[in-house]
Amino acid sequence: MHSNEILSLGLGLQKPWKIIGQILETDKQPHVLRLTVKADRDTEFLCPVCGRLCKAHDFKTMTWRHLNFFQHHCYITAQVPRVRCSEHGVKRIKVPWARKGSRFTLLFEQFSMALVREMPVLAAAKVIDITDKRLWRIVQYYVSKSLVRLLLDDLTAFGLDETASKRGHNYVTVFIDLDRKDKPVIFATPGKGKGTVRAFKRFLKEHGGNSENILEVVCDMSPSFLAGLKEDFPDAETTVDWFHVVQLFTNAVDTVRRNETKKRNLPKGTRWSVLQNAESNLTTGQAKALEKLNRMGAFTYTAWKVKEKLRWVRKATSLRSAKWRLTHFIRHIYDTVGYDPILEPVFNALETLVRHKGQIAARWNSGHSNAHLEGLNSLFQAARARARGYRNTTTFITMIYLIAAPIDILL
Ligand SMILES: [Zn+2]
Repeated sequence: MHSNEILSLGLGLQKPWKIIGQILETDKQPHVLRLTVKADRDTEFLCPVCGRLCKAHDFKTMTWRHLNFFQHHCYITAQVPRVRCSEHGVKRIKVPWARKGSRFTLLFEQFSMALVREMPVLAAAKVIDITDKRLWRIVQYYVSKSLVRLLLDDLTAFGLDETASKRGHNYVTVFIDLDRKDKPVIFATPGKGKGTVRAFKRFLKEHGGNSENILEVVCDMSPSFLAGLKEDFPDAETTVDWFHVVQLFTNAVDTVRRNETKKRNLPKGTRWSVLQNAESNLTTGQAKALEKLNRMGAFTYTAWKVKEKLRWVRKATSLRSAKWRLTHFIRHIYDTVGYDPILEPVFNALETLVRHKGQIAARWNSGHSNAHLEGLNSLFQAARARARGYRNTTTFITMIYLIAAPIDILL
């Protein structure tokens, strides 16, 4: 077998295309293997619009990066014709080894996609020796192409949460299918609040879903999300996840601690001690810090106690008992915790809790676990790490889809 034929086989080239030349440029580092591909003389090509066989009108020399040949970079160059179709005029044909507009072969792109499923884009770009910007373009193309086929016709319950692509700014809101065990992410969009709910409704419709089929939506207590849900999913029951209740009070404790630190010295290790929960394993140092806080009558300790008492509500085993426990928890805190301006964050959290009591208790009747929403935090972390070095809202969203959306990336 001639070496050109062997290379043709490796490329998966079929008639009328064949390799007519190969040069190994050894003056470059790494070495470059250049393959020249040509179609048989007098070949007729398919019109890219109607598929009719047409005569070549003219040719253009085009080059694609292909998979490395051992350690050598490999490029394919071909004379690509434009055909003259009697119906569609002069059109550039599609070559079988690359998609339109790409400067890489399909095999190269397939290999790239396999890599970015396993490692950060920056690292993958180094392995295949292209810029991360170019690799991102490939990843974005395949992710958005696969996403088009996502079917949401059986969606009946979803959850949503927001996160920042970078610390403190550029928010992204993620929607998950509460009935999907793995890869639950079905939509991610820039921003937070009402507008994102509207965007999801549109997306749902485009993907065969129906907003009237949605029975339950789980979210946090953000007024803007809730207002959006009321407008766009009026028939769905909105419930609030316990995870967000804990988050609300944990943030309150942290704000009280920060404000109190400005006025007096708090024991070393206070921050982590009060963010922990007492049932998880506190270190001796953390336990001591809490003890000291208690003895000195710190407001931070009072705030922490309130957060810890929440646990009693969580242990309710029915909707009725959850409602009862929530009511008693709220009354107990108002009765026993004296007001002081420094405790304002705790009272604010309490007010939020009062406002959403029904929605929180409704979770006890829900058939959906909160595991997905809790799991979102580690997903966000993973997506941030994978997009490191070239992170903006778009790349962050692409990575969230790649890691956690139910899409098959097919070439
Ligand atoms: Zn045509």
